[in-house]
Amino acid sequence: MTETNTISGNRGLQVEEPLIFEMGCEGRSGVDLPDPAPVDLDRLGGVPRRGKTGLPDLSEPQAVRHYTRLSQKNYGIDTGFYPLGSCTMKHNPRLSEKVARLPGLADLHPLQPQQTVQGALEVIHTLAHWLKELTGMPAVAMSPAAGAHGEWCGLMAIRAAHEDKGEGYRRRILVPESAHGTNPASAAMCGYSVESIPAKENGRVDLDALKAKLGPDVAALMLTNPNTCGLFESEIIAIAQAVHGVGAYFYCDGANFNAIVGRVKIADLGIDTMHINLHKTFSTPHGGGGPGSGPTVLSAALAPYAPVPYVIESAGGLELVEGARAGTKPFGRVKGFHGQFGVFVRALAYILSMGSDGLRQASSDAVLNANYLLACLKDVVSASFDGPCMHEALFDDRFLKESGITTLDFAKALIDEGYHPMTMYFPLVVHGALLIEPTESESKETLDQFIAVVRGLAARARTGEAEGFKAAPRLTPRRRLDETLAARTPVLRWKP
Ligand SMILES: *Cc1c(COP(=O)(O)O)cnc(C)c1O
Repeated sequence: MTETNTISGNRGLQVEEPLIFEMGCEGRSGVDLPDPAPVDLDRLGGVPRRGKTGLPDLSEPQAVRHYTRLSQKNYGIDTGFYPLGSCTMKHNPRLSEKVARLPGLADLHPLQPQQTVQGALEVIHTLAHWLKELTGMPAVAMSPAAGAHGEWCGLMAIRAAHEDKGEGYRRRILVPESAHGTNPASAAMCGYSVESIPAKENGRVDLDALKAKLGPDVAALMLTNPNTCGLFESEIIAIAQAVHGVGAYFYCDGANFNAIVGRVKIADLGIDTMHINLHKTFSTPHGGGGPGSGPTVLSAALAPYAPVPYVIESAGGLELVEGARAGTKPFGRVKGFHGQFGVFVRALAYILSMGSDGLRQASSDAVLNANYLLACLKDVVSASFDGPCMHEALFDDRFLKESGITTLDFAKALIDEGYHPMTMYFPLVVHGALLIEPTESESKETLDQFIAVVRGLAARARTGEAEGFKAAPRLTPRRRLDETLAARTPVLRWKP
């Protein structure tokens, strides 16, 4: 193996960066200020400062370099291809970004009188209209702050509806084993017990196994469609009928809506409620934990229980409803104010700039790109299921069998090649999963380069270069971290 350590610790033009506190040098300063007049130095109301503030003393170039270098340690969709599956890391159009920054939208305060924010209410109202139009559903709760929050909101509406009918004894929620971890977590947060339903050989829900678990104590089924294997649940109508047959509701996890926007109306599938991750389907950057937004559409049966606030048209203009109105029984409120307004603006700008033809084209291209990857890789990387996929392609580690290389090693080798790894080890229904979602915005050239790299790595894996894979990544400033230790015992405080 070639030597990869350097004298400086820097790697290429990636510079080892100390903490800013370690760089400070007493008395150094980036500004030249006159000494303060010796009057009333104590402006702290009789609580004078006893020690130093502990801020580092730096010159301007030191501070500028420090933060610029830190910013370069980020990898994002704006730096390269981001093949994560179950996430829709799509390009965020600069137009949406520009609109979100308009001062009239960006500088609002949530406590402003409603008459002064009619335009903002119109943004929420118009976006709600298009979300209802795109799903065919009659109502939408706009305030949930992320997909998981929307799941919880939808389940709370389901719980309220059951309790209203005197069926509060329904305590079970069924969730397919391929589901995203937030599904069982949201159900548990609502006080439900969770039972998992197995998948069939073809990666779809086993309808017979589902029917066997259905009964009068089931509150809801939570199903992702297209599911986390990137497959359309072809028996979804029969699934909905079976669920409704026992008086339960059908929750759909809409995180993969990007695959079907403009092509499938959710209402036609018998779904009662579904969250839409605006930050996955309708632009907004969402790496690093946010911001997100998870508006949750509701059927006529669940609409009366929708949380406040929501916008209605009234005689005096648009109005935010903050309590119960005739015929409604809101289950409560899920967020301090009105939802993630900045994400609403981006989503509406995206929807309007794409138009109905553009949205339809985007979902078609997302599916086309995923199938192109699948078709170009499946002879060397083991595809988990036969046939075409939707917006993401699922592979597993059978192609690494007997090579001594794991999915993790393969993903780490991709980093040395300049690619962020795909989603690994999820979904759990296949062994050593590699889940790739290219999205609609990647060009054929980008996909071809990525395909060439994956094929090249697969060829190396076949010829038994396990050592090289085990040592990857070699070219990054840090190599393999003890991720568990880093997550469990993070060092969050610098002590001099
Ligand atoms: C992303 C995702 C979620 C959770 O959404 P957040 O906005 O991250 O809370 C739920 N289900 C699936 C399938 C997802 O991909």
